[in-house]
Amino acid sequence: MPDDTDPRTASVGSAGSDDPRSDFSSWLDENWDPSSSLLSWRERLVDAGWAMPSWPTSHHGRDLPAWTDEMVKDELTKRGAVGLAPGAGTTLVAPTIREHAGKALRHALLRSTMTGAASWCQLFSEPGAGSDLAGLSARAVRDGDRWIVNGQKVWSTSADHADYGLLLARTDPEAPKHRGITCFVIPLQQPGVEVRPIRQMNDYSSFNEIFLTDAEVPGDSVLGEIGGGWSVALSALHHERLFGGLGRPPIRDTSGRLFDEARKEAQEHMRTYQWYPQRQGRVDLLPSALRAAGLDRDPVFRQEIARILSMQKISEWTAQRAASLRATDRPTGAESSIGKLATSEIARSAARLHGMIAGVEGLLTGESAPQGGLIAEILTSFPAQSIAGGTDQIQKNIVAEKVLGLPRS
Ligand SMILES: Cc1cc2nc3c(=O)[nH]c(=O)nc-3n(C[C@H](O)[C@H](O)[C@H](O)COP(=O)(O)OP(=O)(O)OC[C@H]3O[C@@H](n4cnc5c(N)ncnc54)[C@H](O)[C@@H]3O)c2cc1C
Repeated sequence: MPDDTDPRTASVGSAGSDDPRSDFSSWLDENWDPSSSLLSWRERLVDAGWAMPSWPTSHHGRDLPAWTDEMVKDELTKRGAVGLAPGAGTTLVAPTIREHAGKALRHALLRSTMTGAASWCQLFSEPGAGSDLAGLSARAVRDGDRWIVNGQKVWSTSADHADYGLLLARTDPEAPKHRGITCFVIPLQQPGVEVRPIRQMNDYSSFNEIFLTDAEVPGDSVLGEIGGGWSVALSALHHERLFGGLGRPPIRDTSGRLFDEARKEAQEHMRTYQWYPQRQGRVDLLPSALRAAGLDRDPVFRQEIARILSMQKISEWTAQRAASLRATDRPTGAESSIGKLATSEIARSAARLHGMIAGVEGLLTGESAPQGGLIAEILTSFPAQSIAGGTDQIQKNIVAEKVLGLPRS
């Protein structure tokens, strides 16, 4: 047994049949209990190694092949059971902690992050450092057994209700910019952290400005090496793209304590992400909008909707190809950047077509506006799609330099 084994998972092993699907199904027969609390169900799932079975047994997994992570989602869906918590904690932070945290920090945070007991946000972007993230200037200075942090972060989704932030700060201003950065776990509920929500042009308020004034980080709350934060950041951004596309089992419309708690959690989550479907352009609404406007026989509109729907299908296939490469442990190539660019183009085209169908009235908000104001919401939300998680231009630079091997501009 590796010496960093978490005592809670010490009994978990990959000892099972050579059919993980039937092993998991049998485990569900014995353990899925909708009358338990949401947290105790998720703790059971995580402690048994079934939350992410491809992870090592010492890290709450079962050392199984990559495809079993998707298999778990399928089986939970079939059973109507609830999966892991939504949000950055499970998609972005947990895999980053698993790979980069030392033993003590991992034991302290991985389990509670996977169950959703600890919630997270990403404190990377700054007013002067977005695409050029390595140019960040928030400073962390060692002070005995703690770090003191000063600086400003911005666009931090969910920071207004998160317990912890995954923070990038400069620890060596003399070092080349990519080498002087360290990645920290910062507790957000402290006097040195001020969170100010930002009102967006679509009238939602999902992200925040963060002012760090002598904020404290415990000395051992470092991910990776001191000065090695850039590789931790790249790993977190990789997980954001990889896991961000993974769906979760839908929550059944059934009464019972666990389902009630899961629905409440999803509602809370949707307070932040309610406008995200509009950000993707609401392609699903286009055919009915076209018919309602009597434009479904117009060749120009028909051609445009066919183009958008085809692009959406191709993008789905690209995502499936990437998922199947991952599931068989084969390296992926340009899929995540191409997929990100495609979602931007689809959102842009769909928003434009919604605007053409609705005409100038699409700009109206309120209940009497077209689709109850939804068109205006699409028009003010879609630009975020080509910015969040790396802008279109940055994705094109990645494809040009890393995939096509073109020289840096
Ligand atoms: C919905 C949403 C949620 C977000 N959530 C978070 C979060 O939780 N945490 C967080 O830390 N950040 C978050 N962000 C911030 C996001 O990561 C940044 O907005 C993004 O990286 C771009 O940085 P910027 O806004 O500073 O733009 P800039 O980097 O200033 O870019 C401005 C323009 O210049 C272009 N540009 C910049 N550099 C180059 C280049 N080298 N080559 C070509 N063009 C270039 C860009 O493409 C863009 O068009 C979020 C953003 C959005 C929209």
